[in-house]
Amino acid sequence: MPGFMPAIYVFTVQKEDADGRNIGERSDAVLRTTMPAMTENKMPMPAVAAPIPNDLESFWMPFTPNRAFKRAPRLITRAKDMHYFTPEGRAVLDGTAGLWCTNAGHNRDPIVAAIKRQAEELDYAPAFQFAHPKSFELASRVAALAPGDLNRVFFCNSGSEAVDTALKMALAYHNVRGEAARTRLIGRERGYHGVGFGGISVGGIVANRKLFGTLLAGVDHLPTTYSREHQAFTKGEPDWGGHLADELERIVALHDASTIAAVIVEPMAGSTGVLPPPKGYLQKLRAICDRHGILLIFDEVITGFGRLGYAFAAERYGVIPDLITFAKGITSGAVPMGGVITRDGIYETFMRGPEHVPELFHGYTYSAHPLACAAGLATLDLYRDENLFERAKTLEPRWADAAMTLKGLPGVLDIRTLGLTAGIDLAPRPGAPGLRGYETMERAFRDESLMVRIAGDTIELMPPLIVSEAQIGEIFDKVGRVIKAAA
Ligand code: PLP
Repeated sequence: MPGFMPAIYVFTVQKEDADGRNIGERSDAVLRTTMPAMTENKMPMPAVAAPIPNDLESFWMPFTPNRAFKRAPRLITRAKDMHYFTPEGRAVLDGTAGLWCTNAGHNRDPIVAAIKRQAEELDYAPAFQFAHPKSFELASRVAALAPGDLNRVFFCNSGSEAVDTALKMALAYHNVRGEAARTRLIGRERGYHGVGFGGISVGGIVANRKLFGTLLAGVDHLPTTYSREHQAFTKGEPDWGGHLADELERIVALHDASTIAAVIVEPMAGSTGVLPPPKGYLQKLRAICDRHGILLIFDEVITGFGRLGYAFAAERYGVIPDLITFAKGITSGAVPMGGVITRDGIYETFMRGPEHVPELFHGYTYSAHPLACAAGLATLDLYRDENLFERAKTLEPRWADAAMTLKGLPGVLDIRTLGLTAGIDLAPRPGAPGLRGYETMERAFRDESLMVRIAGDTIELMPPLIVSEAQIGEIFDKVGRVIKAAA
């Protein structure tokens, strides 16, 4: 966005002058950008533009330590393929597909063109009572990618909305079929399902449980599938832990199946550190759910669209859940979109009652937004035309080997890999959990021009699926240097 970039810097400098704050510390990245910036291919970028009423203070940044960031910002102004670019034109290798989303790489021409065309043709159309054709086209394409009879697609705008939608569908499904007592929802420790009240209730993240009150009533949790003692330094699915699915039988025995609506799990827990499912675990969960009439929801917000070498993890494991949530990769991150895929039987169960009344009392103003649908169709074309899911599968052994080269570096407690993902646990600094992780992320960005993600003291990596073998080597070389520097 030329124009925006220089403007914010000019204003930041002016404001800090007036307030007498420490310019050097707060505007380091900023001041340099008033020089003509060079891109990777040496094209000069435009410099200074008119000041706008903007500074770093107004934006309350999500999931970010705001004070630390605003003292030393990590700004991104442009991206292409595997790289981000800072305001001064420094290329930063994207080791995280943005935030698990830009699976096709950044600013891909066909996606950009599709969004432009759509914006000119139809900016918005309501999805309540009306519709535009691309919403049906995209739903059919998503259904075709999903395994088995997962054929019905409901659109929303994010993973969090997808999760809440799926949970509401599960409750309403049992209600309309006359088992309204099935209200209990089962999640898992260390599960992440977004930030809505439904998602944080079934999720198993301590900070959510500590900060946001009592959450939804009637929720229980399976134990986490992770055990360092039994699984450390495993490539792919660990041998140990399949038996942990049997804990669902214990929960059913406690509450009685007649009160349980659904079980929701991520096939691979991503946000809490990349925790691959133990061998046989998901298959067992499916069997227990079947035995007790409980719906099984796979939250595939990050595992969907090729991350594990398949369109969905459900396919990798040969397990058909009743509902799949998706988001992120559907548009390769270019326009917000999420959704839920359900099996035919669930949709059909709702198709009763008077025909002039909506069968499911749920939806979002921006469900199936035209720009998102256009971006989604172009993205799915790219995945197909460039065989990107297959590519992830082919690269998985190379990726896993490269990740394991970091074993033995100072403070590395465990490394896990699955598909094109890796989690590297570092020993926490005494009395300051998360600090070493934070330092590695900072150093990676500033010293190595690499974007990594952190979950506490765990480094998470998940590059766009277009990553080359050479870039895989580059990612882990850089991470290795950073780990040593932050030891
Ligand atoms: N579910 C899973 C498994 C996720 O990993 C995430 C985000 O990372 C979400 C839900 C929430 O998605 P969003 O941030 O788009 O709301």
